[in-house]
Amino acid sequence: MGITTVTAARILKGQQLGLSGEEHQLSFDDFPNIALSKTYTIDSQVGDSGACATALLNGVKARYETIGLDENGFYEDCHSSFNSRVKSIADWALEEGKATGIVTTTRVTHATPAALYAHSASRYWESDDKLPPNARTQCKDIARQLVEEYPGRDLNVILGGGRRHFISAMDWSTQRPNEFGRRLDNRNLIDNWLRDKKDRDLKASYVKNKLEFDSLNTTHIDYLLGLFSHNHMAHEVDRETDGPTGEPSLAEMTTKAIEVLRHNPNGYFLLVESGRIDHAHHLNNAKRALVDTLALDEAIQAAIKLTHPSNTLLVVTADHSHVFTFGGSPKRGNHILGTDSKPSDVDSLHYTTLLYANGPGYTRKRINISTVDTTINDYIQESAVPRRWDTHGGEDVPVYAQGVNGHVFRGVVEQTFIPYAISYAACMGPFKWLCEKQLNRQQQQHLNNNNNCHKQCHNQCLMPSSQQIPKPKSSPSYRNNNFYIT
Ligand SMILES: [Zn+2]
Repeated sequence: MGITTVTAARILKGQQLGLSGEEHQLSFDDFPNIALSKTYTIDSQVGDSGACATALLNGVKARYETIGLDENGFYEDCHSSFNSRVKSIADWALEEGKATGIVTTTRVTHATPAALYAHSASRYWESDDKLPPNARTQCKDIARQLVEEYPGRDLNVILGGGRRHFISAMDWSTQRPNEFGRRLDNRNLIDNWLRDKKDRDLKASYVKNKLEFDSLNTTHIDYLLGLFSHNHMAHEVDRETDGPTGEPSLAEMTTKAIEVLRHNPNGYFLLVESGRIDHAHHLNNAKRALVDTLALDEAIQAAIKLTHPSNTLLVVTADHSHVFTFGGSPKRGNHILGTDSKPSDVDSLHYTTLLYANGPGYTRKRINISTVDTTINDYIQESAVPRRWDTHGGEDVPVYAQGVNGHVFRGVVEQTFIPYAISYAACMGPFKWLCEKQLNRQQQQHLNNNNNCHKQCHNQCLMPSSQQIPKPKSSPSYRNNNFYIT
């Protein structure tokens, strides 16, 4: 969700509301704090979701396509994952007795959610069939880590897709046509998840479609697993709501997650991902990417409604961008999925104002789209370079923040800064000590009846700026445990 995606989604939303579009504000456009995040990884200039999620959720730069490992973890090297594991925000929150949760429209074992609970030398090791045979006895697949290992088994809420990695390839009773389980070890991890909660006397529920999801009474649930699809959940424009394959929206899942998590008096950490924005961009399909961005906007609106900025920090960001552009000379109010006001001055052919630098939208010879409806769900935007999938983009992505200590999000920061800022804001994890120090100073100043700090600038006077929380080193040798403020 690079800036182009945010701008185009904002205009689409405004136009859906009957406005010209450009002047519309998404929910997070109104957040008072903004930063830019650098998304390179240890060994790549343009990041992938595994390494970027590790930066975003664990606070270390990682190697391309690894999960929850520092620089000592190497891609597909099972052994290297034993001494390179790093804690995530979920560990920090659980150590403070807070509740934790994941909501995503991808498989719950996909790269971004996985970085919160798993340590894997490959983001693709979602179930045991993907592990090389010699690694199978040594390294647990990501789905098993979610169900069996800390912190995965202690996550209160897990909502998303990807049942296939939880069920056996041999158990035909759980299968629908063309929906085969992937597990070779014959485990049913859904049953195992339920059994683990029962053994620990925890109030838990599993749901598999919107019907079951809607009928849940969250008052008596502290642990909720919802796997709504065999593979990823549907893009918002394709989502069914009825019957055995009906899926809840990202906003509905976010609301239900918060209802469960707020049972905990110590507070909670919740990760919400509109994970299929990325998938639509990979196919040069701007419409699905933008509508999925608007689904995220609705989820954020739901979170805003259920929380208060005096005790909750909301951070909205992306793991990386895409090679997605928006330009031309369109008139004000031009359909955001439409063509430029004038055709190309070279070949006299029309082009959409949204385009991709690479991907499947490439055609050897430019085609005449003057009679094509470029606003339909399945329209594929043109690209300049042929590729089966478009690539991620390498430019900085925005970070929007609102609520407690949101002011620390400013300037151009490393992606690894984000979890540390959250650690500071929420008084947990590696910057708990700084948060407590500031709180003590705040109390002391209050006791001294210090009038230097006026009410209006209360936060700014007492809290450190983003410059005071050190930026992580960009060198691979950086680890979070040798990273101190002097
Ligand atoms: Zn991607």
